[in-house]
Amino acid sequence: MLFVLCGPGGVGKGTVSSRLVEQIESLDLSRSWTTRGRREGEDSDAYVFASREAFEKKIAEDGFLEYAEFLGNFYGTPVPDDRYLAGERDLLLEIEVQGASQVKDRFPESVIILLLPPSMEELERRLIGRGDSPEHVERRLSVAREEILAARSLGATDFVNVDVEETVSLISSFISERHTG
Ligand code: 5GP
Repeated sequence: MLFVLCGPGGVGKGTVSSRLVEQIESLDLSRSWTTRGRREGEDSDAYVFASREAFEKKIAEDGFLEYAEFLGNFYGTPVPDDRYLAGERDLLLEIEVQGASQVKDRFPESVIILLLPPSMEELERRLIGRGDSPEHVERRLSVAREEILAARSLGATDFVNVDVEETVSLISSFISERHTG
């Protein structure tokens, strides 16, 4: 079964998704490809960091379950192995909303989870705190508003990330209830 965690950048998707896969034995985290450069201090295995050419080659080979362009870079989920598609194990995709929409089209039974900030002001504060430039923050905030609307239109279930521990525990129960394996 596929679980898709989406929500605006800066909302804490990375922390929540890594905690979820630690806590739920049947759940694995999908590792995406991206054409964006590695950020300073970012783990080398956060993504498969690929050139534009390598990414396009993988598209041509039908190697992605979904892919999308986001703020000038490509991001894509490699086609999962059969264990996930056959429902033996669950897979968590931490992706933006255009990708979530493609997953929902291909696998209508997949579950979309929308992680929200306590407020847009708080999101702005978090983005500034992680060192993004003011123009970048403005751009991210306007993308964030669109992403929230788009995710809702996909029938996503909302979780407001006030306290990480509590959010993880609520989403963890939600996933366990829907888990089919
Ligand atoms: P970042 O550059 O901040 O790591 O990620 C930017 C956005 O791309 C985030 O919203 C993240 O969830 C999303 N993203 C990461 N991997 C994928 C992917 O494989 N597919 C899609 N569609 N979005 C992704």
